[in-house]
Amino acid sequence: MTTHEQPLESVLETIGQTPLVRVHNGPDDVPVYAKLESFNPGASVKDRIGRYMLERMLEQGDLEPGGTVVEPTAGNTGIGLAIAAGQLGLESVFVVPERFSVEKQQLMSALGAQVINTPTADGMGGAIDRAHDLADELENAVVPQQFSNPLNTEAHYETTAPEIYDALEGEVGAIVAGCGTAGTLMGLAKYAREHNPETYIAAVEPKGSLYGTVLGDDLEEGDYKIEGIGTHDPATNDLFDPSLVDEITAISDADAHAELRRLAREEGHLVASSAGAASVAANRVAERIAAGDLETPHDTVVTVFPDSSERYLSKGIYRSLEEWES
Ligand code: PMP
Repeated sequence: MTTHEQPLESVLETIGQTPLVRVHNGPDDVPVYAKLESFNPGASVKDRIGRYMLERMLEQGDLEPGGTVVEPTAGNTGIGLAIAAGQLGLESVFVVPERFSVEKQQLMSALGAQVINTPTADGMGGAIDRAHDLADELENAVVPQQFSNPLNTEAHYETTAPEIYDALEGEVGAIVAGCGTAGTLMGLAKYAREHNPETYIAAVEPKGSLYGTVLGDDLEEGDYKIEGIGTHDPATNDLFDPSLVDEITAISDADAHAELRRLAREEGHLVASSAGAASVAANRVAERIAAGDLETPHDTVVTVFPDSSERYLSKGIYRSLEEWES
């Protein structure tokens, strides 16, 4: 990230300290700010947990020097873990459901990792099972398991959250973020609630995803194109703590797609579908605060843009909605 003004020893030192930039489609008097995580060296928010989880696991003796990391991942976590593993002298193997983008799988391989695909129909659950089987077969191998490892949440509590609070001098009214593993939102929410228990916390998922059922919402399961957030089985998302969340908002593929295209055209952000969804949801929360329908400790909303659209060009991310969805 460009704010580092001194020479650095390793790419790991460039992780974090990403920019926080105002998004300009919201109400004038309730600014929405987005944390631009594509500024990380592997171009996503997951570089943070890649470094944080492996360094802590090595320190705690849960991972041995020279060992192998095996992880089920939609891709970005594989890239983040592959960068960290390579620099920390570890091997890496990633289990990726077929539907996820080829760009991510090529990047993991370029970073020295081995990539194994599982059938799309088996979902993330299939990838998780396969990763555990592989780790059992290999010697000195561990599954960091981002879906249940508290170090995932802790990485955001220790790094992403304080960066946001420093940038805004603590004046954060609401936090709105997409949930895949929910590590990002949970880390931010825990920090926010300690800072001010009244901070409004909204989780974002694609329409068709079932996170909302955790708060008792009656939802219909369906397919979605938005990548990186959502769940078909909340039982596999151990990190999600409903007591830290005021609302779970579902965003349609169409709304996320229109917004990611607007963000590029009008604001110069090359961000992907989970950022489009987060931006729509953050803007809705800001509108409610501006209209006096929602009480927050400050009139500001913070969201996270997790990665870059360049990673999804092969999937037609900037083509029409119909072409993207086909
Ligand atoms: N967006 C993208 C593109 C992602 O890859 C992820 C991680 N799966 C997320 C959002 C959600 O992050 P988290 O797992 O921390 O909820």
